Amino acid sequence: MKTAFVKEPSKISIDETEKPILESGDILIQMHACGICGSDLEKVFGEYGQPSMRLGHEPAGIVLDVGTDVSEFKKGDRVFTHHHVPCYECHFCKHRNETMCKKYYETNLAPCGLSEEYVVPAWNVTHGGVLKISDSLSFEEAAMIEPLACCVRAWTKFSYHENDSAAIFGVGPTGMMHVMLAHAKKFSKIFCLDVNDFRLNFAKKFNITDSINSQDESRKQKILDHTDGRGVDVAIVATSSLK
Ligand SMILES: [Zn+2]
Ligand SMILES: [Zn+2]
Repeated sequence: MKTAFVKEPSKISIDETEKPILESGDILIQMHACGICGSDLEKVFGEYGQPSMRLGHEPAGIVLDVGTDVSEFKKGDRVFTHHHVPCYECHFCKHRNETMCKKYYETNLAPCGLSEEYVVPAWNVTHGGVLKISDSLSFEEAAMIEPLACCVRAWTKFSYHENDSAAIFGVGPTGMMHVMLAHAKKFSKIFCLDVNDFRLNFAKKFNITDSINSQDESRKQKILDHTDGRGVDVAIVATSSLK
C-alpha cells in the first residue's frame, strides 16, 4: 500500500509500505478522503511544534478488517476516525483541556491518516475515536468532522449571547467554519478580516456584516461604526499571520 511521508523540508514522498498487522483491539481502515490541516503544511513547509511528523489526521473511510476483540465495528462500516483520543481522567482532561493530556499524544493512527490503509489503535476504538457515518454523508464531508469539532470546541471556551458581534481573523476553512457557527449562535454582526482578497470575497457569500482587508487602515473604524463604538463582543483568531 502507499503512504505519504515528509522526506525532508518541503518534500513529500509517496512510498510503498508494509500492510499493517492488527492487534486484537485494532481496526484497519481503507482511507477514502483525508483533509489537509494547516499543521500538515507546517510539517512539510515550516516548523511544527510537536514531535509527530505523521501526515493526515482528518481521514474517513471504510473498515477493511477488525481485530478479534472488536465487536462494535465490522468490515464495510463507513467511519470517520480520530487520530488522538485522551484518557478523560487526568488533571488536564478534568479541566476540559484534553489536548494537553499525555494519552492524547500517545495515541495515533499508523502509519498515518494520509495512507491507503491505516490502523486505528484499540484505545481509540474503545474510547469514542471511531464514528460511524451515515450513507448520506460523503467521505469528503466526513473529513471535515475533526476540523469542525475543533471550532465547536473553541466556542465552549468563551461566553457569548444571542445578537452578539464577532470579528474573525483569517477566513480560510477554519475561519469560515467560525462564520457559520456565529450564524448558528444567532450573532447579529460578523466581520471577516484577512489579507487575501479571494477569501474576503468568498466570505461575502455568507451573509456577513463586512469583509475587511486587514491592511485597511480604517479597519478599526469600520467595526466601531457598526457596533455603536463598542467594538466586537468576540474576536476569533483563525490565522497564524501577524498581518
Ligand atoms: Zn488539524
Ligand atoms: Zn487525560
